[in-house]
Amino acid sequence: MRQFSFILIFISLISLTGCNSKSEPSNTTNDCNRPKYAIVIHGGAGTIKKENMTPEKEAAYKQKLNEALNTGEEILKTGGSAMDAVEATIQVMENSPLFNSGKGAVYTHEGTHELDASFMDGATLNAGAVGGVTIVKNPIRAARLVMTNSPHVLLTGSGADQFAIDQGLDTVPNTYFDTESRYKSLQKVLEKEKQGMGYLEEWPDYKYGTVGCVALDKNGNIAAGTSTGGMTNKRYNRIGDSPIIGAGTYANNQTCGVSCTGHGEYYIRYAVAHDLSAQLEYTNRSLEAAANEIIHHKLMKAGGSGGLIAIDKCGNIVMDFNTAGMYRGYAKPQERVVEIYKQK
Ligand code: ASP
Repeated sequence: MRQFSFILIFISLISLTGCNSKSEPSNTTNDCNRPKYAIVIHGGAGTIKKENMTPEKEAAYKQKLNEALNTGEEILKTGGSAMDAVEATIQVMENSPLFNSGKGAVYTHEGTHELDASFMDGATLNAGAVGGVTIVKNPIRAARLVMTNSPHVLLTGSGADQFAIDQGLDTVPNTYFDTESRYKSLQKVLEKEKQGMGYLEEWPDYKYGTVGCVALDKNGNIAAGTSTGGMTNKRYNRIGDSPIIGAGTYANNQTCGVSCTGHGEYYIRYAVAHDLSAQLEYTNRSLEAAANEIIHHKLMKAGGSGGLIAIDKCGNIVMDFNTAGMYRGYAKPQERVVEIYKQK
C-alpha cells in the first residue's frame, strides 16, 4: 500500500512539472494539427467594389498581393522565422504605390505624409512601433528595430525619424511618398470638409489602404506587423491604431497574431487586436467566432468600419471585414488564396 502511494505521488509530480516524453517546443501546444507554416496579409479594407474597379487595376492588386505572399512564403518554406517573413512581406507592399503605406501613403491636411507602423513578436511579447515618421522609406523596419535595438515600444515624430537615421535605415524626402491618386483623394476630402463634414468623418466611399501581415513559422512562433499612412486629411499629428500595440497589431504564440485595418479611432477604443487574443485566451471561442464578434457586432454597433487578419496557434486563418471589400490573401503548404471583394 505504501509502495502504491509512492508511485502515485511520483506520477503526480511528473505531470505537475509538465515532464513528458514528447519534444514539442515549450511555446506551442500539441493539441492541434499545426501546418508547417502559414501567412496572411491585408492591403486595407473599405468601399472596394468590383463595379468601380478596372480589370487592369484588379490584376495589379492581385499581382502585388501574390508577390508579397511569395516573399513571405519563401522565407517560411525554407525554415525562416515568422518575424523575417512579416518584415519582408510588408516591405513589398510598402514599396508599392497601390497601398496606403510607404510609397502611396495618404496625405495629411497640410499635403504631407506621416507614417505609422508596428511589429510584434508572439514568442516574447516584445514589440516596437513608430508613429508619424516622415522620411523613413520602410517604417516596418524602423518598428522592428525599435523592438530589438531600443528599450522602448513606441517612438514618434522627429525622434523616431532620428532613430531610423541612427540605425542606418534608408531615408527619403517626404515627397517620395507622393502619388497622384492619393493627392486626388485629399482634394475630394477637403471638398467634403468645406461642405461641413468633420475632417476624419466616415464618408461612404472611404478606402483604408493600410497593409498588414501575420505569419506562423515551423517552430510555432507567430509575428504580426502593420504599416500605414493613416487617414487622408489627418491633422494635428493624429496617430491611428496601426502603431498601437493591442489596437492595430498583436501577437502571442499562446493565442494568435493579428493585424487590423479600418477607422483607427474605433480600433484603439475597442483594443481590437488584443481583444481577439484575449477572447482566445479566456473563452472557448474559435478564432473565426471571436473575429466575427468584434468585426460584425462590437465594431458595427459602434459605427467602426474595417477588418482584420489573424492566425491562431494552430494555423487557422481569418480574414474578416465589415466593409464592401478588403485586399487580402493567405498561403499555407499547398494552399493559396487572394481576394478583394466580399464573398457572396
Ligand atoms: N487604421 C488606419 C488608421 O486609422 C487606417 C487604415 O487602416 O487604412 O490610421
